[in-house]
Amino acid sequence: MESISSFELDFIRKYVPEEDILPDEAMSGHTTFRVGGEARCLIRVSMTEQLSALLPYFREKGIPYFILGNGSNLLVGDGGYPGIMLQIGSRMNAIKAEGCHIRAGAGALLSQVAGCALKNGLTGLEFASGIPGTVGGGIVMNAGAYGGEMKQVTERVTVMDDRGEIAVLEGDAMEFGYRTSIIKQKPLIVLEAEFSLKPGNKDEIKARMEELSAMRREKQPLEYASAGSTFKRPEGYFAGKLIMEAGLKGYRVGGAQVSEKHCGFVVNTGDATAADILGVIREVQKRVKENTGITLETEVVLLGNF
Ligand SMILES: Cc1cc2nc3c(=O)[nH]c(=O)nc-3n(C[C@H](O)[C@H](O)[C@H](O)COP(=O)(O)OP(=O)(O)OC[C@H]3O[C@@H](n4cnc5c(N)ncnc54)[C@H](O)[C@@H]3O)c2cc1C
Repeated sequence: MESISSFELDFIRKYVPEEDILPDEAMSGHTTFRVGGEARCLIRVSMTEQLSALLPYFREKGIPYFILGNGSNLLVGDGGYPGIMLQIGSRMNAIKAEGCHIRAGAGALLSQVAGCALKNGLTGLEFASGIPGTVGGGIVMNAGAYGGEMKQVTERVTVMDDRGEIAVLEGDAMEFGYRTSIIKQKPLIVLEAEFSLKPGNKDEIKARMEELSAMRREKQPLEYASAGSTFKRPEGYFAGKLIMEAGLKGYRVGGAQVSEKHCGFVVNTGDATAADILGVIREVQKRVKENTGITLETEVVLLGNF
């Protein structure tokens, strides 16, 4: 893959310190699947002003870019991503509670926001405490678990478009659906979100979080690298059950495997490549379709050259 040009680098350096510009960065170090080739350049974004300077430039020059949160729902191909990765992470993770509201930067981890809710005796985010993504990624995907989803608690979201313009989206404007939102359809970046919660009992909130965490440890193959549930739940069915019934429990391609503990998870048993993982995904989709006529769509975002 062609490296980033010195011309492009010079422009980026005007806004981003050298240590936050990582050319030819291996994505295996930035995704929970622990696979993926190099991005042309990864930029660790630390403030909104950097985005408002860079996005119009990328747009004008036709330079592809991708917003990266914690990489916990992402499969990057072994051939890498021929564009710029804008990582919205720990440098944009301020969290502030005020009354029954919590405001959090897009880079804050959902577990940290849920922790803030617990500390302030606020209920509503217990479901999110074990989801290993950022606020940005959680909003984009309308992440959910155990009957809760981001839609239920998100009051407003501050976004930036590809011209660097900032807007605030509230209520229906977010177009939340099952594992989707308006941000999946449009070139918008989540900068910050405000959550509306209810007063609760700290002991009960803590107990619920511990209960959900124990359920995850019991049911999910957390000992292996993965991106959580690989497939969306088809209406009226459970992906894991369909996969098991297709005889694919433990099915392997190289180092990738349909988890024996939870068939809805494709896991990296240690030395998988992205191609191995994609091989398992495609075989699962083919066999479930043959078996039941149901098309399993990936929940995991596929990116780059496989
Ligand atoms: C062990 C495990 C368990 C999981 N359990 C659950 C679960 O219970 N429920 C669930 O819903 N998910 C679960 N997931 C999947 C994942 O954690 C969620 O989808 C999470 O919301 C992704 O957040 P992220 O920051 O890692 O996003 P990434 O994987 O980095 O990105 C996902 C998508 O969001 C976009 N994005 C990220 N940040 C921004 C931003 N600031 N602005 C615009 N776009 C952005 C990316 O471009 C990409 O399209 C699990 C994953 C693992 C590994």
